[in-house]
Formats: sequence, C-alpha cells, structure tokens
Amino acid sequence: MFDLVLGTNNQKKLVELRLLLPEDHYRLQSLAEIPNSIDVEETGTTFRENAQLKATEQAVHLNRWVLAEDSGLAVDALRGAPGVYSARYAGTHGDDAANNAKLLAELQGVPIEKRTARYHCEICLSDPQGNVMLTAGGTCGGRIRTEPVGSGGFGYDPLFEIVEYHRTFAELDLTVKRALSHRSRALRDLLPKLQRLVG
Ligand code: IMP
Repeated sequence: MFDLVLGTNNQKKLVELRLLLPEDHYRLQSLAEIPNSIDVEETGTTFRENAQLKATEQAVHLNRWVLAEDSGLAVDALRGAPGVYSARYAGTHGDDAANNAKLLAELQGVPIEKRTARYHCEICLSDPQGNVMLTAGGTCGGRIRTEPVGSGGFGYDPLFEIVEYHRTFAELDLTVKRALSHRSRALRDLLPKLQRLVG
C-alpha cells in the first residue's frame, strides 16, 4: 500500500479522484482528514504552475507524498477566460452561483455555435521533499448553455453541455463524468506512470 495525500479540499473533486485510484494499491487521505494541512495560495498563471504549487508546498509541509490538481474552464468567445481564475471569476472563491451568473452575462448575445469551451485539468505528484515527480493533463470539450440545467456536479457543470449527449454535466450521471471529464483524463494519463514509479 502506498500512502498518498490528495491535495484538495473540494469534496466533489475528491469523489471523482478517489473513483479512479485503485483502493488496493493506495491508502488515500484528503486534506480534510489532516488537521495540520495548509491552504496553498494559487499564485501561478497556469493550471500546471498552480497544480505544482499545491502539490509541492503541501508535500514539504506534511513531509508526505501529495497528489494535487488545478482545473478550470476556458471559453473560446472569452479568449480562454475564466481559465485559472475559474474558482473566483465573480470575486469570491468558490461562489459557483455567482460565477455561473457572471459567465452567462459575459456571453449574453453570443450564439450557440460560438459558445464552445473546454475544461482543463493538470495533475502533479510531489515527493515529500517537494520534488515534482509526475505531471499529467486532460481536457474535456463542450459548450456553454444559455441557462443552467441539472443539479449534479459542481462549479460550471449546470452550464457545461456535452454536445454528443445533449446534456449538461450537472444532468449526466457521475459515471458519465467519470468517463469523459478532464480530471479523469488527466488521472488516467498519470496512473500508469504512478504505478511504474511507486509500484
Ligand atoms: P481550483 O480549485 O482552483 O482548481 O478551481 C477549480 C474551479 O474550476 C472550480 O471552482 C470550478 O469553478 C471550475 N471547475 C473545475 N473542474 C470543474 C468541473 O469538473 N466541473 C465544474 N467546474 C469545474
């Protein structure tokens, strides 16, 4: 068994990450279970930089292996915004309703064929000394609806339509999100490398 800290406080992200990491290989702990974990500031300008900051700073602080991710939404008509600022697009970190309202306002009048977007996720594994041992990335394409639909998922999911399914991520079952999402794709890219590294 390999001890691994999942460097996020977002419960929804945790569920998605845990689903993909084989329980018989990894003993997983989330930050919520570690009282002395720190809140790493996301000062990077790219998803990869922020993922590395969250993994390495937490790893050094805890002296443990940490797997962290940074993710967000890039909308073509907004030249890639909200991007790395996805969690705090409307000002307050993690205010999903305000972020979605701002996104709709910014896209007002933009026709459906121009509302293309993609989620992006970068994952980073740090050793206990703060060395970046592995990185991986994944994307998931879709488009932004004109009003929110569905109650599952989190963040921008009620607005993010998977075109092939004619449904938003908030309407689709978690098993579908698990198959298609940027986070799953990044983790699937990372897993074989992780298994080679730690057995
Ligand atoms: P982070 O915690 O700094 O990585 O911020 C991620 C932000 O990007 C979240 O707060 C959401 O706004 C958005 N985001 C990332 N992944 C997803 C997803 O799977 N669904 C919906 N929104 C997401």
